[in-house]
Amino acid sequence: MMKKRTDVFDYGQQRTCPTCSNIFSGKFCNRCGEKVIDQRERSIRHFLAEIVNAFTFLDGKFPRSIKTVLVSPGKLSFDVVRGIKIPYMKPVSLFFVANFLYFLFPLFEAFNTSLNSQLKYQQYSEWVQQLVDRKIENRGITFSEFELRYNESSTSKAKLMLVVVVFLFSIVLSVINFSRNAYYADHLTVSFEFMAYTLLFTTISLSVLLVLVVRLGVIFETDLTWILYDEKLLLLPLIFVFTLYFLYRMQVKFYTSKWWIAAVKALLLFFGFTLVVTVYRFILFFVTFWTI
Ligand SMILES: [Zn+2]
Repeated sequence: MMKKRTDVFDYGQQRTCPTCSNIFSGKFCNRCGEKVIDQRERSIRHFLAEIVNAFTFLDGKFPRSIKTVLVSPGKLSFDVVRGIKIPYMKPVSLFFVANFLYFLFPLFEAFNTSLNSQLKYQQYSEWVQQLVDRKIENRGITFSEFELRYNESSTSKAKLMLVVVVFLFSIVLSVINFSRNAYYADHLTVSFEFMAYTLLFTTISLSVLLVLVVRLGVIFETDLTWILYDEKLLLLPLIFVFTLYFLYRMQVKFYTSKWWIAAVKALLLFFGFTLVVTVYRFILFFVTFWTI
């Protein structure tokens, strides 16, 4: 539960709300929600503390939320849609923080897709190749000039467009967990939680961990660089395990599925997610292609 500091606030005192003139007792106006101002809050010290809080999430909501997302997937969304919001950061906000952190470490490009990969390793590669060839010919530039411009533009767009993955995946969630009583926004909340998890753990933490393992290999004079270059050997299986872990537990917690239904749906959701990533890359290609 949340820690409480000793509270000297007089909850019985009647106050007039400065915003809506309602008379109430307690820390917040019960009509418009305005917070009672404590004179100490006007000090420069408090003001600076608020700024620090805004940046470091010292109020505990951020660490509590990421811990919940990791330790019991689906619980954050489950609680939030049932009105337990105060202890947590909303999944939407958590996603944007994760997205921001992903921005800070350009080393890990899980969702970015280089021109090389677009032209060679996607289902739609052949088609895209023809478009690129035509553009290069029309512009009278070399392939490497085009590639340089493309990759630079695509990297920043990839991160801005991650929210597209969230929306596409919420559709997959609403199809696989279709129910007349469910609200679409609930699936969207789960999708934000899932993407926050994917960025924070499957992408950032996993990459940092693998880089550390490779560095440790150097200390012990063992060449472990294959971990980073041959992704099929370790990286992809780990991503599969990390993702299925979340989807299975989330399915049980949020959608209250029986274990075997949760297992089947987690697999379907996994394949749905890989499809979503392909569609995202396809959209990313066109957004980059038409703007450079
Ligand atoms: Zn008020």
